[in-house]
Amino acid sequence: MNADAAWDALNKALEDVVPACRGQALFTVERLTDEEWAECAAICDRCPVFRLCGAYATAAKVPSGFWAGRSYTPKGVISAPGGSRQTMKGTT
Ligand code: SF4
Repeated sequence: MNADAAWDALNKALEDVVPACRGQALFTVERLTDEEWAECAAICDRCPVFRLCGAYATAAKVPSGFWAGRSYTPKGVISAPGGSRQTMKGTT
């Protein structure tokens, strides 16, 4: 799925759902503590648009923010608290 299609699918789903992350500043923080990470991940785990959110973040290669249980940075994606970044070429 390309980024435009993923965005359309996510937005369609969001017509019926207000995700718990909406308005939560933690989801846009550049570096999360382990506790903050766990808080965001717990919210995502219960989210009805988790799959669509993650699909968009991956397809669009979002440069920042916490999306569907993963933290995105300009240098790569972090999939666990305190974890190393995963880039397109591997771990940094
Ligand atoms: S899965 Fe996406 S939309 Fe849902 S709470 Fe997490 S970041 Fe928000």
